[in-house]
Order: sequence, then structure tokens, then C-alpha cells
Amino acid sequence: MNNISILIVEDEPEIRRFLRVTLSNHGFTLFEATKGAEAIAMLESSIPTLVIMDLGLPDIDGVDLIKRIRDWSTVPIIVLSVRSMESDKIDALDAGADDFVTKPFGVFELMARIRVALRHLDLRDKGEEESSVFSVGDLKVDFSRREVFIKDTQVHLTPTEYKLLTMLAQNPGKVVSQETLLREVWGPGHSKRSHYLRVYMGNIRQKLEEKPARPRYIITEPGVGYRLKDD
Ligand code: CA
Repeated sequence: MNNISILIVEDEPEIRRFLRVTLSNHGFTLFEATKGAEAIAMLESSIPTLVIMDLGLPDIDGVDLIKRIRDWSTVPIIVLSVRSMESDKIDALDAGADDFVTKPFGVFELMARIRVALRHLDLRDKGEEESSVFSVGDLKVDFSRREVFIKDTQVHLTPTEYKLLTMLAQNPGKVVSQETLLREVWGPGHSKRSHYLRVYMGNIRQKLEEKPARPRYIITEPGVGYRLKDD
């Protein structure tokens, strides 16, 4: 079970302590967040193998947190919650959670759910290996690992930058409209804020392009959108 890291998002100290003891005994590396904002900040700096989270958090509802994580990450999420209504489970699963465990829970059940999540992850990675890389020129985007390379050197993109690049890379050669990019990345209320795109595309170009002012990869279609060059 080495090299498996788990982010615990839980505001109750006793449950955090219980999870810490149980999971570290099984050899997992643990990260802990007590609030949604803290969890997002931690996920932005590194993606764990698995997330175990509570729904009742002090700053953001767990279901909203799941939706926000799902905007840019496919990390498996197991919900641990006292909410036991069928509708609570459906909301969490529809938002993108992979599993739901009702509190109070037994250690053996939790461990079994973790094993299931890891098994799914394994199958998914195997299935994605073949078809999940886009490349043009020196640029390579590995979708399953969420990694971007220029000439085999990894480029660090923020989650938002990565999401924008992915949307272009999934439609190589085609123009993706400003409206679509804004809606998908920032949400339905933001479809007129094209200045966001200018800033973010500028940042992505700084990281990917040899001459950001004369981009080779990300082409602006003025007034319409952006296009990623294909071969
Ligand atoms: Ca709670």
C-alpha cells in the first residue's frame, strides 16, 4: 500500500484522529484539511490518490466542494457523512463522489471502500493509458496523469490553466468559443468575462510558448475564441 496518499477533509477532531490512526497504520500517507477552502488549496498544490471527505464543513457545503473538485480533477472521492437520507447520497454521488459511507462507520467497511476505490482507479489508469495523450510539436498533454510537457520537460499549470488547455486539446484544430471556455471553467454566470481568458491564455503561453507574443500552439481567433494547433 505504499505511495498511496489520502486527503482527509473533516472538521471533527475525533474523527480526524480516528482516521489518522487507522489509515496511517495501513501505510497510507495522509494530508488533513478541516475546511473546504483548505482542501482546495491543498489539491491545487498536489493531487492525492484518494479524497475522504465529510459533507458538513464549516465554510462550504460538501456537495459544492465535490462539484468544485470535479471541475478539474477525477481523483476518487469517498464521502463520510451523518447525512443518511437517500437524497443526500444521490446529491453527493451526482455531484461526482465515487462512494458514500454513513457515519458511524466501521473500520473494516471503510477499508473495504478504500480498496474498491483504488481498484477502480487501477482499472481506469490501465484503460486510459493508450489513448489519453495529445501531442503537437514539442507540446504533450497526458490526460490520465494530468501532466503537460514541452520537449519532455514537465510544465506546471494551475488547475484553471490545465482545464483551459485540456478543453482546447480535446478539440485540436477547432475553435473553442470564448463563451464555452468561460462557462465550462468559471461557470454559467461568467460567459461575458473575456478578459479572464486573455489573462489566463497569456499565462499559459508564457509557460508553453517559446515566443509568447507569437504563439505556435494557442492561436487567438479574435472576437471568437481560441484554437490549439494540430499537425
Ligand atoms: Ca462535519
